[in-house]
Amino acid sequence: MTTSFSAWRWSLSYILVAGLWVLFSDGQLIALGLSVEQLERAQLVKGLAFVVLTGACLFAILAIHHRQHLRAQYALQRSEKRLYQALEASQNGMWDWNLQTQQMDFSPGFAALLGISGEALGNQASNWLDRLHKHDREALQRNLQKRLNSLNPATFEDTYRLLHDDGSYRWIQLRGRLLLTEQGHAERLIGTASDVTQRRMDEDSLRQAAAVFDATQEGVLVTDAQQHIVHCNPAFTRITGYTQAEILGKSPGMLKSGRHDKSFYDSLWNALENRGSWSGEVWNRRKNGEIYPQWQCIRVIHDEQGDISHYVAVFSDISVLKRSQRELDYLAHHDPLSNLPNRLLFTERVERALDHDHIEPQRGAVLLIDLDHFKHINESLGHNIGDLLLKDVGQRLSEQLGKRMTLARLGGDEFGLLYEHCANAEQAAVMAQRLQNCLNRAFRVMDNELFITASIGISLYPDDAQDVDQVLRNADSALFKAKNCGRESYAFYSQELTQHAHQRVELTSALRHALDNQELRVHYQPLICLKSRRMIGAEALIRWQHPLRGLVSPGEFIPIAEETGLIGALDTWVLQQSCRQMVAWHTAGLPLQFVAVNVSSRLFSRGELDQRVADVLRDTGLNPACLELEVTESAVMEDADAALALMERLRALGVRLAIDDFGTGYSSLARLKRLPVHKLKLDQSFVSGLPHDQDDVAITRAVIALGHSMGLKVLAEGIEQPEQLALLDELGCDHGQGYHFGRPQPAEQLAELLAQQRDAVYD
Ligand code: C2E
Ligand code: MG
Ligand code: MG
Repeated sequence: MTTSFSAWRWSLSYILVAGLWVLFSDGQLIALGLSVEQLERAQLVKGLAFVVLTGACLFAILAIHHRQHLRAQYALQRSEKRLYQALEASQNGMWDWNLQTQQMDFSPGFAALLGISGEALGNQASNWLDRLHKHDREALQRNLQKRLNSLNPATFEDTYRLLHDDGSYRWIQLRGRLLLTEQGHAERLIGTASDVTQRRMDEDSLRQAAAVFDATQEGVLVTDAQQHIVHCNPAFTRITGYTQAEILGKSPGMLKSGRHDKSFYDSLWNALENRGSWSGEVWNRRKNGEIYPQWQCIRVIHDEQGDISHYVAVFSDISVLKRSQRELDYLAHHDPLSNLPNRLLFTERVERALDHDHIEPQRGAVLLIDLDHFKHINESLGHNIGDLLLKDVGQRLSEQLGKRMTLARLGGDEFGLLYEHCANAEQAAVMAQRLQNCLNRAFRVMDNELFITASIGISLYPDDAQDVDQVLRNADSALFKAKNCGRESYAFYSQELTQHAHQRVELTSALRHALDNQELRVHYQPLICLKSRRMIGAEALIRWQHPLRGLVSPGEFIPIAEETGLIGALDTWVLQQSCRQMVAWHTAGLPLQFVAVNVSSRLFSRGELDQRVADVLRDTGLNPACLELEVTESAVMEDADAALALMERLRALGVRLAIDDFGTGYSSLARLKRLPVHKLKLDQSFVSGLPHDQDDVAITRAVIALGHSMGLKVLAEGIEQPEQLALLDELGCDHGQGYHFGRPQPAEQLAELLAQQRDAVYD
C-alpha cells in the first residue's frame, strides 16, 4: 500500500466521519428536546469535544507517523552504515556519478583505495578523472560513450589505473551500472570500486609462469596428492613421447624403466617426506621403449592447510649430456691417432692392477714396446706416413691381446701393454715375442712397403715394484737394456730373468718342433740286480738332440713340456718307443725282464693314463709284465685317492709300478702302505753321500727296511762308486742303477751289453 493511498484513505474517512458528525449530531441534540440555552451549551461542548477528539486523533496519527519515520530513518542509517562497513571490510569503495551535474559521491573506502581522505577526493568527477593513468583515459571515454549510447543498464566491469597518494598507480576495478530516469535518459552511474593491483600482478605472474611452463625445455609433470597425473607441459611430450591426453589421470609409475630397485624409490620418497624435495638422476622409459637418463627435481606442494596438494616434477633429458660426457671422457683417455688408451688411462689401469686391496696379490707384467728406428720413417717418408704406420702397428698389436690385457699408445712410437694375471716371466716373454712376431709382416702404407721391429722392456709386479711409477721406470730401463742388446729384442728389468726367459722361450718354441723334427731320442740305462749283478731291466730316459745346442738333458726341458702341455705327447712317444724296443730285444733273444718308463706327475693326475698305456701295449704287443712305470712320490701323494684308483687300474693291466726319487717328497707311510707298487727307487741324493754321510746311511738303511717290510723291492739310484755298492750290498738293497753299472745309452749299445750278458751266461 503506497503512502499517498493511505493518506487519502485516512483523509476520506475523516471527512466522512466529520461530515456525519456535523450532519447528525445537531439532529440528535434537538431530538433530546433541550432548551435553546441548553442546546447552545450542548452544541458548544459537542464542538469542543469534536475539536479535542480530532486533535487527539491528529496527534496520534502524527506521533505514529513520526515514529515510523524515525524508525525508517534509523534503519536506513544502520543499513547504510553496514553497507559502508561491508565495503570497508572488503576494501571496496562506492561511487555514484551524477551524469547531469557531474557530481560524484565517493564512500570513504573509495578515497582510502587511493590513500587519501574523502575531503581530498572532493565530489567532482574531474577529481578522480585527473588521477586516471594517461593510457587509460581513452579507454574510459570509449567505455562511457558506449554505455551512454546503448543505455544498457546491465552491470559492467572496467579496470583502470588510478594514481595513489604514494605516487604509484593502482589497478582499480569499477563494477556498476547505468541508472536511467523514468523517461529513459541516462541519469547516473553507480557502483563499487576495488583495488585489484595484487590480483593483476598475480595474474601477470601466472601468465608468465604459464608461458615459462609451456616454453621451457625441461619436462614438467604435475600430479595430485594421490599421484594421478594432472598436468604436463609440451616439453614433457617432446621428451617422453606421451601427450597430455595419454597420461592424464595415470600414475607416473608408467614412465619407470625398471632400472632402479625398491631402495632407490624408498630413499626418494624419504627425501620428499622429510625435506619436501628430491633431485637426482633417474632412468626412465620413453613411449617408444627407449631407456634414457633424466636429471629430475621433485617438489611437494602444500595447500593453505599444510596438506600435500600436488607433486611437481621438473626434469631434463641428460642422455645427450651423458653421451658427450662419455665422449669427453673417451677423448681424455684415448689417443686420437690409434684410438688406443693413452698414457693417462694406462697408468690408471696399472694403478688399479697394483691395488693392494686385492685379497691375494695379483701378479702381472708391464711391457713397454718401442719401435726401432721409427725416426727414420718419419724423416724419410714424412709424418703423415709415420702416423699411418703407427696406426697400423697399434692395430696389429691389439690383435694379439688376450683377456685382461690393455694396450696403450704412450706417445710417439711407444706403446705399453699391461698384462694382468701374467703368472711368470716366461708368459711375459712369450707375449713379448708374440708382439714382436706380429710386426714381422710388411706394412703397406700409401703404396710403401714398410718393415718395422720393436724392442720391448718388461717389468713384473709385484716382484720388481709395487707402485706405478716404479713399475713404469723399471720397464723403461728394461727397454733401454733391450735397445742396447741390438734392436728387436726384449729384456726384463732383471738380468737373470732376461736370460732365463730367453732360453725358456727359445726352448719352448723349439720343443714344439722337436717331436716332428725327430730330434728326440730314448736312451736306456741298465737296472741291475745287486745279488746277481745282472742287468734285469733298463730305464728309458728321454734325450733331445738339439740341432744347435747338442744333447739337452730332460731336467731342462721336461718342466717346460709340463708347463706347455707338451708332456703328454712326449711321454706317450717315449712309452711307445720303449715298448717297441723291448719287443725288439725280446725278438732278438736278449734277456731283459722289463723296461722302466717315467710318467710325469702331470699325466698321472689325469685319469686316462691307463687307457693310454693299454693302447700302447696293444699296439706294440709287449707283455704288460715287462713294463714298469715310474711315478714320483709327489705325484702319488698329491691326490692320493685318485692316484690309488689309477694305480689299481694300471696294476690290473698287469704292468709294474715303481716310486721314483723316493725320499725327496713327503710320503705318508699310511698311504704308501695302500699303494699297489712293486718297488721304491731311493733317490740318488742319498746314495751320493754313502758310505760316509751317516745321515744318508741311516736314511738308506731305513728306506730299505721300510720297503722290505712292505714287501717291496728297493732300488738305489745314482751308484757311482764301488764303496757305495758295497754298503748297499751290506744293507740288503735289491737293485741298483748308476754310472757304476752303465750310463743311459742308445738302444743299440744296451743291446750289446745285453748280448754280452746273455753270452756270459751261455758260456
Ligand atoms: P730319474 O727318473 O730319477 O732318472 C734318473 C736320472 O739320474 C737320469 O737323469 C740319469 O741320467 C741320472 N743318473 C743315473 N745314474 C746316475 C749316476 O750315477 N750319477 C748321476 N749323477 N746321475 C745318474 P736324466 O736322464 O737327466 O733324467 C732326469 C729326470 O728327467 C729323470 O729322473 C726323470 O724324472 C725325468 N725324465 C727322463 N726321461 C723322462 C721321460 O721320458 N718322461 C718323463 N716324464 N720324465 C723323464
Ligand atoms: Mg726315473
Ligand atoms: Mg730318479
